[in-house]
Amino acid sequence: MSKQDQYTMTDPRTQYDSEHTHYNSDQPDPALDKKLDPSADHGETTYRGSERLKGRKALVTGGDSGIGRAVAIAFAREGADVVINYLPSEKVDGESTLEILKEAGVSAKGIAGDIKEEDFCVSLVDEAKGFLDGLDIVVNNAGKQQFVEDIENLTTEQFRTTFETNVFAMFWITKAAAKYMPPGGSIINSTSIQSYQPSPGLLDYASTKGAITSFTKSCAKMLIEKGIRVNGVAPGPIWTPIQQSGGQAPGKLPNFGENTPIGRVGQPAELAPAYVYLASQESSYVTAEILGVTGGKHLP
Ligand code: NAD
Ligand code: MG
Repeated sequence: MSKQDQYTMTDPRTQYDSEHTHYNSDQPDPALDKKLDPSADHGETTYRGSERLKGRKALVTGGDSGIGRAVAIAFAREGADVVINYLPSEKVDGESTLEILKEAGVSAKGIAGDIKEEDFCVSLVDEAKGFLDGLDIVVNNAGKQQFVEDIENLTTEQFRTTFETNVFAMFWITKAAAKYMPPGGSIINSTSIQSYQPSPGLLDYASTKGAITSFTKSCAKMLIEKGIRVNGVAPGPIWTPIQQSGGQAPGKLPNFGENTPIGRVGQPAELAPAYVYLASQESSYVTAEILGVTGGKHLP
């Protein structure tokens, strides 16, 4: 855990402990933040808000853990009311996140459900809009990632469910949300360095991230007609449950992130300011952009 807020000048190489020799303890599904060992930093004790999203109404998918939790915490501390979505099996993480959001003094609600279902995506957006009394910001962040070394073992079912979770749900949620969002609204999609530098073993996942990058750019050009900006964030290697439950090759986790120029794995807390920037009016002239937060691995 970092001991300082996001404004304190620090050497980024040593901002977080790089001793992670026990990063190989695999978790069975569902992957929970509660069981993540060592734990991740979502800015719980450090993110300092300054009303950059005061009064905004935000929906964050995958807001229970990892990057989504860090984003939800940052949004709440910047003054936004927040609805988070997560899989029902991750309710325990969702409830922990909600407690932190409520401590920020904003309205917060969790809506559990599976975004592989179109009907659920539509009802999620409707319910979020009803609770928040509007919808200004949508973060399509939930995702599925399972490493499979050999194409022979990559099943059609996995290929399909990875696309349903990562791409189809984004389409369904964005379509349902766009009709409610006012000019000035912002949609932010979690893509990945895998969109630009795909790894073997992540064939289905990397393909969805390529699709998300193109979806983001096309959607941005379409929705600017309504005054809505659409951008993406491309994280590099970040320490979250998705990685510990089959997201990486067996044995890769002890050195995860060390091949970046910064030389260590990233923490979810280090992603949140990118999402805050893209959500806020500070990024008024930014749309169809993919912002890399990669430890120095570059996007083309
Ligand atoms: P995470 O496991 O903490 O978050 C993923 C979330 O997606 C889960 O909490 C889960 O509740 C949700 N989810 C998965 N399937 C779902 C479904 N069918 N219905 C509803 N919710 C579902 O991991 P994370 O790393 O924070 O992942 C967040 C996003 O960041 C993902 O899109 C991931 O691809 C992306 N990303 C992560 C990394 C990394 O290194 N961790 C790198 C690049 C991109
Ligand atoms: Mg989770």
